[in-house]
Amino acid sequence: MTAVAASLEAVRSRTATAAEAAGRDPDDVRLLLAVKRVEAVRIQEAFAAGATLIGQNRAQELIATEPDLVDVPHETHFIGHLQSNKVNQVMRWADCVQSVDSAKLARRLDRAAETRERDLDVFIQVNTSGEETKAGVTPEAAGELAAVVGSLEHLHLRGFMTIGANSSDAGEVRASYTGLAEVARAVVGSGEAGTGEARELSMGMSGDLEIAIAAGATMVRVGTGVFGTRAV
Ligand SMILES: *Cc1c(COP(=O)(O)O)cnc(C)c1O
Repeated sequence: MTAVAASLEAVRSRTATAAEAAGRDPDDVRLLLAVKRVEAVRIQEAFAAGATLIGQNRAQELIATEPDLVDVPHETHFIGHLQSNKVNQVMRWADCVQSVDSAKLARRLDRAAETRERDLDVFIQVNTSGEETKAGVTPEAAGELAAVVGSLEHLHLRGFMTIGANSSDAGEVRASYTGLAEVARAVVGSGEAGTGEARELSMGMSGDLEIAIAAGATMVRVGTGVFGTRAV
């Protein structure tokens, strides 16, 4: 067994234990591997060990790595800040963009998605911790942006994404996750066109995935927990 396969197994066991502890079905929590700065060969090892979903947060890396991964069927999500001049390139490789945080970006993605065979799945990124360094719309503005995204013809709003509070206080981390669940509940219940299926909650990373799963995460994004500490 490769080191990647062994740590992937350990993370799967953590997510399953957390789901069961929360009275949830482990199959309702998908594992997305955050593969920033991970070489294609190690991503291939993760695929060989059964991984099917990866996330890239830089356009350059996405474009550089995906051609080496085309032999294995997988799903790729874009999870980082997306500059408008990179939209077309990212769209070529990504199945979903989780970091939509403005109406302007949403409209640009919609125009670029016109030529795709199927609609582009998107998540809205919400800054639930209020930390200034974090991207995302405020929880208060999420409903309005969801209505815009829902109205766009070539985008399919699947849910919401957040990066948890950067805090050693578990209560603060938990609040940043329950906050995202509340945003999703309000949007899905709003009756706005195109928002009724926005149930995915992408939240939780290597250090706090148990807290996110307890708060309802349907997708956790794990990097170091599987690939080890990244070189800086
Ligand atoms: C890197 C990254 C992760 C994973 O973080 P780890 O602490 O390495 O598990 C999750 N989400 C995003 C957006 C990231 O950039």
